[in-house]
Amino acid sequence: MKISTNTGGLAATNAYLIADETTGDAAMIDAPQDTVLPLLNVAKHHRWNVRYLLLTHGHWDHISDHKVVTDAYPNAKVLIHALDEPKLITPGSLIFSLPYTIPPRRADGYLEDGKTISIGKLEFQIIFTPGHSPGHVVLYSPTESLLIAGDLLFAGAIGRTDLPDSDPAAMEISLQRVAQLPDHTSVRPGHGPPTTIGKEKRSNPFLQSK
Ligand SMILES: [Zn+2]
Ligand SMILES: [Zn+2]
Repeated sequence: MKISTNTGGLAATNAYLIADETTGDAAMIDAPQDTVLPLLNVAKHHRWNVRYLLLTHGHWDHISDHKVVTDAYPNAKVLIHALDEPKLITPGSLIFSLPYTIPPRRADGYLEDGKTISIGKLEFQIIFTPGHSPGHVVLYSPTESLLIAGDLLFAGAIGRTDLPDSDPAAMEISLQRVAQLPDHTSVRPGHGPPTTIGKEKRSNPFLQSK
C-alpha cells in the first residue's frame, strides 16, 4: 500500500491518496480546496487508476474539489454516507459564507456501516461514526493497521460537536467504537498530523475512560 497526503484549503484539511501498487488501483479520500491536483499528479505519474473519491463527511472543507478529481478521472465514483449526501447536493458552510462556490452533485453510491470498500487488493471497512456530522464515516484496514479518521479523531483532540449538524452524544459512542481498535493502529486524521490509537488512548483527554 502507498499513502500520500496533501494539506490545504481554508481549514488546513488533509487529503489522502491510497494506492495498491500491485494492481494500480487507487482512491482519493476527501477533496479539500486546492489540494487534490498534486495527489492526482502522483497517481498519473504511477499510472494508477483512481477508482473512488471517498468522502468521510460532507463538510465544505472535505468536499470542495470533488470536481477536480472527477474531471481528471471521469470514471471515479464519489461515495459518501447517505446522511451527509444533502451537503454534497447543497454544498457550503452552515455557519459562514464561503468565499468560493462548490459545484453541487449527487453521490454515485453510499458508504454504509459494516460494508467493505476494495482498492485493488486493499480492503477498508466502513465504520459509521456520527457525531461531528450525521453521516460521518471512518475507513479501517485491519491488514494495514490504518484508520482514516476524518474529523472524528485528531492527535490530541476530536472533531467539533458544536456545529449545527453535530450531536455530542453520538460522538461519544463513535469515539468508543474506534477506541476498541488495536493500539498500534495508525490514525490519519482530517486535520493535523498522524497518530495512533494507543497514543490517543494514553494522552487524548477526549479518549479517557473509553
Ligand atoms: Zn468536518
Ligand atoms: Zn474538517
